[in-house]
Amino acid sequence: MSAVLSLDDLKARAAGLQFRNQAFIGGRYVDAAGGETFDCISPVDGRVLTKVAACGAEDVDRAVTAARAAFESGVWSGLAPKARKAVLLKFAELIEANRDELALLETLDMGKPIGDSRAIDVPATANCIRWYAESADKIYDEVAPTDPKILAMIRREPMGVVAAIVPWNFPMIMAAWKIGPALVSGNALILKPAEQSSLSAIRLAELGAEAGIPEGIFQVVPGLGEQAGKALGLHMDVDGIAFTGSGEVGKLLLQYSGQSNMKRVSLECGGKTPHIVLADTSDLDQAAEAAAWGIFFNQGEVCNAGSRLLVQESVKDALMEKVMDIAKGIKVGNPLDPQTRMGAIVDREQMDKVLRYIGLGQQEGAQLVLGGKQLQTEEGGYYVEPTIFDQVDNKMTIAQEEIFGPVLSTLTFSDPEEGLRIANETVYGLAAAVWTKNIDTAHKMARGLRAGSVWINCFDGGDITTPFGGYKQSGFGRDKSLHALDKYTELKTVWIELGS
Ligand code: NAD
Repeated sequence: MSAVLSLDDLKARAAGLQFRNQAFIGGRYVDAAGGETFDCISPVDGRVLTKVAACGAEDVDRAVTAARAAFESGVWSGLAPKARKAVLLKFAELIEANRDELALLETLDMGKPIGDSRAIDVPATANCIRWYAESADKIYDEVAPTDPKILAMIRREPMGVVAAIVPWNFPMIMAAWKIGPALVSGNALILKPAEQSSLSAIRLAELGAEAGIPEGIFQVVPGLGEQAGKALGLHMDVDGIAFTGSGEVGKLLLQYSGQSNMKRVSLECGGKTPHIVLADTSDLDQAAEAAAWGIFFNQGEVCNAGSRLLVQESVKDALMEKVMDIAKGIKVGNPLDPQTRMGAIVDREQMDKVLRYIGLGQQEGAQLVLGGKQLQTEEGGYYVEPTIFDQVDNKMTIAQEEIFGPVLSTLTFSDPEEGLRIANETVYGLAAAVWTKNIDTAHKMARGLRAGSVWINCFDGGDITTPFGGYKQSGFGRDKSLHALDKYTELKTVWIELGS
């Protein structure tokens, strides 16, 4: 698929796609035990794409049994790391080879622009798996500095059976952030995609098997959160859950762990990222570009979206004018159109939620200066205008709660100390950005911000080598980088008395 393909070409390709829609358990595609399915609805036009297997407790149990048997057999955990590396490298290669199909699945299923699915989601997924594959034979265990009569080894071992429960905003990337470190460490992984976006995950299972991942080591159980997700959370033989999603569900998973086997839980939850622009910023145009795309990229459905724009009073008018100009120029519409920059909101429920927050912002006294309405395209589907509020107080609901849509709240502050205080007045702590040319201010802000990532004079910086995750109610544990391996491994001390 090249960039010159038109909307009509892409629609034709989409119409010809065959959707895998079953669970992948024990090395093959199977229906849910009771035959239940749920509708997979495309937000592009509201049509049902296919019916997906709605897995429940019985299916989860089958997957866990297969995972346990595969893990214990050593067919994967017992391989030399370089052998796991070879399989995972092949997996990354197959993802790249199937880029067009995977990008289309992602766009049809959750509404993001096809240009982004192709240029960002698929390559980032392959890159993540390749990076962890490469790490396989480059990480050493440790020997402790003990008395010479002792040999004490600190070994990293796989945890066992791990479940990954992921959201719909970057379906493949969020899955890859778990698949890479979980599999390279030797675990058996069960992936539960979000019900809004199961298709790419289901297809990935098949590509993994084609690459040589043994039966039972990488399985996919699609289904509703309260059924498949809950069953994984409560299962007595799941050793760990790596979760990305809302804080509400994150808290439930902690409860499930306490009610079952104390499985280890790591949480990557929501955010309310402050995007702080100081008056001494050297390039207001660049800051405006980052502020606009920091909230409108991926329809605002980004955990670290810069949803609170905190501007020092003296540059507020100039910055706002620039941000508004950029927002007005964003082409919103059918995500299969290669020209589209903002696609559809994932489903009707999420669109209604975004519109409710916009109404609430107005009721609470914020000034709506751009957008605010649902956009009708001729095909139907769920679209919302890029929306900007001015005169927002940090106590307002739209400044405190995660909207997860294209809605920017603008707040002002008089000096850096006040900016820092407002930035930290949130239950979240996923990320923050600061624009200033003063190196002292930059360092002070970076130190003072209670967030897992701080970006200076840029937004959303980072790559697979840097950890990503939250402070406070944005969760705990980190995805990406070698630190992510901590979530999927146990440390074992082997203490040997020599010469006794
Ligand atoms: P969600 O919490 O509704 O769902 C996430 C996953 O949990 C889905 O697979 C869902 O089926 C499952 N789930 C739902 N109820 C469950 C239950 N009772 N038991 C077990 N599993 C259950 O979140 P969402 O709407 O899919 O995604 C949006 C959220 O994800 C936002 O809050 C966003 O900030 C967050 N997110 C965080 C990061 C990060 O890295 N921190 C990245 C992306 C998204």
